[in-house]
Amino acid sequence: MKKKLQEDIFGVSKALFDKSKNIEKELIKEFNKIDEICMYNTAKVMNAFEKNRVSEIHFNKSTGYGYDDLGRETIEKIYKNIFGTEDALVRIQFVNGTHALSTALYACLESEDVLMSITGSPYDTLCETIGIKENSLSLIQRGIKYEQIELLKNDFDEKEILKKVKKYNPKLIFIGRSRGYSIRESICLSKIKEIIQKIKDVQENVIIMVDNCYGEFVEKIEPTDVGADIIAGSLIKNIGGSLCETGGYIVGKKEYIERASEILTAPGIGKECGATLGKNKEILQGLYMSPHIVSQALKVAIFTSKILEELGFEVFPKYSEKRTDIIQSVILNSEEKLVKFIQGIQKASPVDSFVSPEAWDMPGYSNKVIMAAGTFVSGASIELSADAPIKEPYIAYIQGAITYESGKIAILKAIDNMLRGEI
Ligand SMILES: *Cc1c(COP(=O)(O)O)cnc(C)c1O
Repeated sequence: MKKKLQEDIFGVSKALFDKSKNIEKELIKEFNKIDEICMYNTAKVMNAFEKNRVSEIHFNKSTGYGYDDLGRETIEKIYKNIFGTEDALVRIQFVNGTHALSTALYACLESEDVLMSITGSPYDTLCETIGIKENSLSLIQRGIKYEQIELLKNDFDEKEILKKVKKYNPKLIFIGRSRGYSIRESICLSKIKEIIQKIKDVQENVIIMVDNCYGEFVEKIEPTDVGADIIAGSLIKNIGGSLCETGGYIVGKKEYIERASEILTAPGIGKECGATLGKNKEILQGLYMSPHIVSQALKVAIFTSKILEELGFEVFPKYSEKRTDIIQSVILNSEEKLVKFIQGIQKASPVDSFVSPEAWDMPGYSNKVIMAAGTFVSGASIELSADAPIKEPYIAYIQGAITYESGKIAILKAIDNMLRGEI
């Protein structure tokens, strides 16, 4: 009787559920590491709140021009403290991460400057900003020159990078911390630190920019702690703690943040305007919760990696590997399995569980993409979500989860949907 109840409530086979319990026993060491990082980052955030004397007054909303918004100014000071930077721009007027990143690029680069990516192709949506994909307003169309250096076996191609830095004298070097939708590994901050030091030894004045999407609070440090001059990310990913409904951030050197603020708003307006419309509280509370939410997402990623590996799929990273972002990729090797897995995630989502996702041509992406995103905040990938471009070898990119429990159950349901009858 008891057994039957358990099967009924989780909606997956008993064999699969039992397997999950055994797997969790093997993950204790990894989970402890995650807890330790979470504790550290929570303290970091708490200290910044205390230092900046966060108070109910900061939850007040501004409308119209949004002059003198005390909450907004305090949020930006807190971000500055957390990232250890001279300045910060944290705004709901950024429509997504791409917008924050592209604003940072336009702020730093002028005609004739060289932009050099040293982690291969940037995230898909940035290709149009740069002009790798045709767009008449791209950086390349505005006279910026672009150089790209591929990764070498998931590490920086140091020799090539240093050679090309000397040759092209780049104004800005772009580093993608997270793999995004590519098969490469994500680059952890110890490697980023090393390459930044070597580059700055060759050319001290180069601006180092890091795409920090999916990276916040995964390690104890951030790219700005290891020499990055400007970084950007999305508030509907890690740092919004699942509470932010929109927005993005840029942190870094004052000079670049000021320019970025004038690209976001208008020359002469900069940081002074931008109504917060009652969103300050969610930005603050989301930030407060973010280290914990990120830890939940990481535990789900590690669980997913381990169970799918044991079921015979190739996964990256493996459960025991060091992580620098919340993404878990799994090679499913078949379109049918991929679609079933993604549909299984959707079925186990809190919102739109009755909807079955199909592949579609998403703006900014070059292949058809299938996505499961039954999220409270539309498209928020700090909540459990899974994306997959429909192309060989049929890789699912899985990320997020606001609680370990809901994430684990959803992964089991997705596996059950994919392998129905087999386990
Ligand atoms: C999510 C993400 C972005 C920005 O994407 P948006 O969907 O515009 O927020 C950029 N780079 C990476 C690596 C990302 O994961």
